[in-house]
Amino acid sequence: MSHLSETKYIFVTGGVVSSLGKGIISASIGQLLQARGYKITIQKFDPYINIDPGTLNPYEHGECYVTVDGMETDLDLGHYERFTGIKTTCNNSITTGRIYQAVIDQERHGDYLGRTIQVVPHITDEIKRRIRANAESEHFDFVISEIGGTIGDIESAPFMEAIRQLRWELGRNAINIHLTYVPYLRAAGEFKTKPTQHSVKELQSMGIQPDILILRTEYHLEQGILNKVASFCNVEPACVVQSEDLPSIYEVPVNMQRQGLDSSILTKFGVVAGSEHQADMQSWNHFLQLQKMATEEVRIGLVGKYDLQDAYKSIRESLHLAAIYNGRKAKLQFINSELITPENVAEKLAGLAGIVVCPGFGQRGIEGKITAINYTRTHNIPTFGICLGMQMMVIEFARYVLGYQDADSMEMNPSTAHSVIDIMEEQKQITDKGGTMRLGAYDCELLEDSRVRAIYGSAHISERHRHRYEFNNKYLAEYEQNGMKCVGHNPRSGLVEIVEIPEHRWFIGTQFHPEYVSTVLNPHPLFVDFIKNAMEG
Ligand code: GLN
Repeated sequence: MSHLSETKYIFVTGGVVSSLGKGIISASIGQLLQARGYKITIQKFDPYINIDPGTLNPYEHGECYVTVDGMETDLDLGHYERFTGIKTTCNNSITTGRIYQAVIDQERHGDYLGRTIQVVPHITDEIKRRIRANAESEHFDFVISEIGGTIGDIESAPFMEAIRQLRWELGRNAINIHLTYVPYLRAAGEFKTKPTQHSVKELQSMGIQPDILILRTEYHLEQGILNKVASFCNVEPACVVQSEDLPSIYEVPVNMQRQGLDSSILTKFGVVAGSEHQADMQSWNHFLQLQKMATEEVRIGLVGKYDLQDAYKSIRESLHLAAIYNGRKAKLQFINSELITPENVAEKLAGLAGIVVCPGFGQRGIEGKITAINYTRTHNIPTFGICLGMQMMVIEFARYVLGYQDADSMEMNPSTAHSVIDIMEEQKQITDKGGTMRLGAYDCELLEDSRVRAIYGSAHISERHRHRYEFNNKYLAEYEQNGMKCVGHNPRSGLVEIVEIPEHRWFIGTQFHPEYVSTVLNPHPLFVDFIKNAMEG
């Protein structure tokens, strides 16, 4: 499907402040180029030393996103997938830690033949190799590399040097897009471009001239301001665009297209866009239209322990997308499971059309999750348990239906006599030797005539995992006799992947994370069906 004889490289950097939404801009650029028929990939470079964000606290870093091949990555990869529909792998997420690890491993292996190992050229060469490796493995028209952090950070300096060198080596096949911030000073009644000018100067001092500037702003900027920035920063006026706050992040690609960003990118690369390459935004615009029309709300409770927008990012987005395709606007209400008690649960869940019981690790907040599940199970309220949420559904059922009052997960209570969630022997066949977690995509077979089979419209599915513990098959027959069914299992190991109470309006728990694969143009069928049922209440 590729069109260009040589791969083009786009480096996206950020200046002034962090949290400007570089991930969304990178994803939008990817989406626009893809809509012109180009084959693209997006990768994220994170300047921290952790090997991956898997061990980072969600308070520090938001959700941990998992790729098909089981890499624990940054949540920006979720934006990449939701915007472009492309499945990411370990090549799409690289940290400073991984770069150094590769270089140090080679040093220990004797590959450097006694030479002194230095940031330049060894670390920078490894960064360059990772940027180019993607294009070499598969022929991409465009490789978009997003550099985490903000210009001037000590941590990101080697990445900047690597980009500088690559631009030199690649000539017209590489450009830099720099995202900055233009604040509005209310007291002065003015927008201020000085931070942008400084940020560009800093970039120039590293030998990088931005080709395109994207100005983040809270309010609309007049053309005069864009022209001023253009002339102060040596950038063509047509290559300065603004990204103002919009009601939805999914409007960003269209807003960029309106300002000709995709055409400017192609022009910079010397690619003349033929009419066959005009961005086909029909499906995307159809989605935006649905989003605009979806004004009636559906209230969904998120039962979890992190009261932070980014902690359950993919779940939130999956619910929003699913609601839009049902003609509704999802109103998500976070409920801190640590504060749920049998006395207040009715009040806490009042007015909710359904609840999602969130994933998680560790003891904190799990009793509240079980209490919430007990309430929604006995009150026939749609309930969707994801990973730890599914495990809590299983424990609740054991305690209140099977009568095992001490039922628990081995993760929470290793001395329980009824470990309905446990480490399974079967699991050892399918997880890597070194890894203790089941990570990445695994096949799942769905039971004939089950609700999930109808929802997916298929008997074989593959979904992504990130967990250590499993449903304990020793108890399976007892669960099934009492009304909770295993409706999805791993064909190789027999591990339980989906449980359901068919008698209930909608009570489904998945050991995997369906939220990672919900995209703007293909919302996940489980989320769509969950919202549909919740609306019928
Ligand atoms: N803590 C649970 C396990 O390790 C669930 C993990 C999760 O929810 N991602 O199995």
